[in-house]
Formats: sequence, C-alpha cells, structure tokens
Amino acid sequence: MDCLFCKIINGDIPSEKVYEDENVYAFNDISPAAQHHILFIPKEHLDSANDLDEKNAKCLSEIFLAIKKVAKEKGFADDGYRIVNNCGKDGGQTVSHLHFHVIAGKALGWPPFPNK
Ligand code: AMP
Ligand code: ZN
Repeated sequence: MDCLFCKIINGDIPSEKVYEDENVYAFNDISPAAQHHILFIPKEHLDSANDLDEKNAKCLSEIFLAIKKVAKEKGFADDGYRIVNNCGKDGGQTVSHLHFHVIAGKALGWPPFPNK
C-alpha cells in the first residue's frame, strides 16, 4: 500500500523512533510544533478515526498507554501535553494513516481553531 506511515513502520522511509511495541509505533514529527512533537500510530493501517470499529479499536488503548509511558520517560507528564487526532479534510488530516500527535514542552493555547 502506498502509505507514508506504513513505509515508516516498515523502515522503507527513515524516522526518529521514540517507542515501539507489538501494535504501536511512535516517532518524532518531521515538522515539530513544540519541543516535543511525537506521532503515535497503530501498526495496522487505518485511514482515519472513521475506520475504527469494535474489532480494531483495541489499538486506541494501546496507543494511549504508550503515550503515558513516553510522557513519563521524556519528562513532560507532570507539566502536561496535548493529544491531537485530525480526522479527514476539515479536520486537517494530511496523512491517511490514523495518528495521534503528542505535543509538549510549552503552555499551549486554546482554542486551537481561532478562525471561524
Ligand atoms: P496530520 O496533518 O494530522 O495528518 O499530520 C501529519 C503529520 O505528519 C504532520 O505533522 C507532518 O509534519 C508529519 N509528517 C509528514 N511526513 C513525515 C515524515 N516523513 N516523518 C515524520 N513526520 C512526518
Ligand atoms: Zn498506512
């Protein structure tokens, strides 16, 4: 499949790996929005949150547990962080492989969508 993040999981495209287990892979975002900007993805290809169902949704708890572990290891768990999933065109999704941005290292503004 012609998917950028599947190629990163397979090692066909290089990445700065931060975490890996049986079903989850995490790597530094190539264009970081803050000191820490890590992408967490399921190894199973799902286009977006719209593809989740009862059979494949277990990856979500695995991803969130991986995020918790990495946040502690990297030292930003206590100060806090933001977990973002962009879904589809209007959500701003540019890579069609389900992923969660974890952004940390500064106080982040809210709301993140100032333009109505
Ligand atoms: P989204 O806009 O939510 O689909 O997020 C896609 C993210 O992937 C963006 O933050 C990009 O900077 C990031 N990205 C694109 N190509 C790569 C790459 N080769 N390695 C790491 N991150 C990437
Ligand atoms: Zn993929």
